[in-house]
Amino acid sequence: MKSKRAIVHKQNYSCFRCGETEKASLNDMYNYVVCNACVTKLGLYHDETIKKHMASFQRAKDMNPEKLSYEEEVNHRLIAMEKDYISKRIKLLHIRERLKNL
Ligand SMILES: [Zn+2]
Repeated sequence: MKSKRAIVHKQNYSCFRCGETEKASLNDMYNYVVCNACVTKLGLYHDETIKKHMASFQRAKDMNPEKLSYEEEVNHRLIAMEKDYISKRIKLLHIRERLKNL
């Protein structure tokens, strides 16, 4: 079991976006491997931007308590995105399976 894990890890140790394998340039971001060049292309928000969004959501929530906080909205988007990803993946896997049988 231990050796199998090591092999899987080694195979996946390249940037998910461009395939870069130079270890010094690779980062672990939430269990995804991303190279330094691709990190800059992700459009990550600065803390100041996140604070602005947080304040904007809070202003809306102050006027209507049923509105989501920014944190709740982000969590909601992550769940919705994963459901969408899984649905699309199942659809493609089904097509691929059917192609083998037609
Ligand atoms: Zn990359």
